[in-house]
Amino acid sequence: MTDNGMAEKFDVIVIGGGPGGYVAAIRAAQLGLSTACIDMTTGKDGKAALGGTCLNVGCIPSKALLDSSKHYYQLQHEYAAHGISVADASMDIATMLARKDNVVSKLTGGVAQLFKANKVKQLHGRGRLLADRRVAFTPHAGEDSLLLEADNIILAAGSVPIAIANVEYDDEYIIDNAGALDLTEVPRRLGVIGAGVIGLELGSVWQRLGSEVTLLEALPTFLPAADQDISKQAGRLFKRQGLDIRLGTLVKSASVADAEVRVTLQDKEGESEISFNRLLVAVGRKPYTEGLLAEDSGVALNERGQIDVNEKSQTTATGVWAIGDCVRGPMLAHKASEEGIAVAELVAGKAAHIHFDTVPWVIYTDPEIAWVGKTEQQLKEQGVDYRSGSFPFAATGRGLAMGNAAGLVKILAATDTDEILGVHIVGPAASELIAECVVTMEFHGAAEDLARIVHAHPTLSEAIHEAALHVDKRAIHRGN
Ligand code: FAD
Ligand code: NAD
Repeated sequence: MTDNGMAEKFDVIVIGGGPGGYVAAIRAAQLGLSTACIDMTTGKDGKAALGGTCLNVGCIPSKALLDSSKHYYQLQHEYAAHGISVADASMDIATMLARKDNVVSKLTGGVAQLFKANKVKQLHGRGRLLADRRVAFTPHAGEDSLLLEADNIILAAGSVPIAIANVEYDDEYIIDNAGALDLTEVPRRLGVIGAGVIGLELGSVWQRLGSEVTLLEALPTFLPAADQDISKQAGRLFKRQGLDIRLGTLVKSASVADAEVRVTLQDKEGESEISFNRLLVAVGRKPYTEGLLAEDSGVALNERGQIDVNEKSQTTATGVWAIGDCVRGPMLAHKASEEGIAVAELVAGKAAHIHFDTVPWVIYTDPEIAWVGKTEQQLKEQGVDYRSGSFPFAATGRGLAMGNAAGLVKILAATDTDEILGVHIVGPAASELIAECVVTMEFHGAAEDLARIVHAHPTLSEAIHEAALHVDKRAIHRGN
């Protein structure tokens, strides 16, 4: 409320300062709209920490730990082949965590700087959407709630981990992603419920540092959303690294006793018990809408608890938009950010759209897994005629020279037009290699287009070139 009792007015209020919300706020401000962004996350220093799940307890800290643990693992297992030997390699977990925290605070501070530079008003506290595009803002500082209003409101409240029945988080022994990013010592045995993206990434971190990691996965198929050629190859490589991935394994309950977590599980052999020093629960995430919407806000949720939006990200309330993890679509930072930009542009009266078909997926294991577009199993289900080309990194000079040549590239193209329908990679730098494929698909490029483009030698990208040639069975460095 302002001094004269009126609600403070903005062109745009964003609730949520993650990669969806903060990007939407910056773009709205760039377009000349007066913008406020409300976010309630507090960092380890007790101050506001913009960037949401992604910067604070998601993408960035997990990648920092993946990099640290990869250096340690390579030092122990891979550098000897290069003639490098180091006696008594050791890992100081406190230093690793401090480096990770430092990366996080640089980035969260960077977003605050960007807000200042773009004149986005940063409000640290909770936002609640009321009727008629009004927002109640409750500051963290303990002051009274303020009433704000805007012509347009963007909800970007993100997501939180799902809990499963009979497995209660205690944040010490039974932990979620935030807990697994802050373990102060390497657990001797780490159990992970869910062999999905978080389970594989954070399981890899602690396995590389010396934990015996067991992933308990309910489904009978490993990574069913990925192309099955890729997930089978990845599964074999992860097993060789020591990750114990148990498919078709349903966790019935977990309890903590004598500093151990006892898990009761059911698999094809029947019911059994297994103990761990720590248990990470990573069974998916759900939209976070607690306290976000007043009863008369006019915003409806769908049957999955997501904020209901149309293809333009408009909710059921006029002038209220929603983006990112709290709406339909993949729960990915880059998807949230692109939706944020699109909505800010729509609010400013511009044309904007997102191609959900070309949102890339990346899993930052070693080897990395990345894909865009349709999998072979999806094309079969949909009755689409396609041709397939593939190429192993083991046949690339660069992969062999690096000593990192596991995996392959697989390209799927329409039989009639040769348009690329999907690209699937498991291998070194897959996260970077996929970008070329996303661009080609955005331009409706054909396998022939990729095959005609000059790729530098020796690079890993030659595997993409050769896979594209292989679609037409004319690869040079493999049998066709
Ligand atoms: P969020 O990032 O969740 O941000 C929402 C923000 O809104 C939070 O700060 C929250 O506190 C705040 N908020 C919610 N309600 C209110 C309210 N009422 N008032 C004020 N503030 C509110 N994605 C990738 O693309 N790549 C990765 O490598 C990757 N790695 C991940 C690793 C882990 C361990 C996890 C957990 C996730 C990872 N993700 C990754 C997913 C990614 O973090 C999310 O898709 C992304 O953060 C979603 O962005 P968002 O803006 O929708 O929501
Ligand atoms: P996920 O959906 O990737 O994996 C969850 C897994 O848990 C699934 O395989 C599911 O079958 C399994 N599962 C569910 N219930 C179970 C049960 N009761 N017992 C055993 N297994 C069970 O979810 P996540 O790993 O928690 O990650 C959440 C989301 O965060 C991801 O879907 C992704 O959108 C995002 N994320 C992205 C990245 C990235 O882009 N690199 C990294 C981490 C997280």
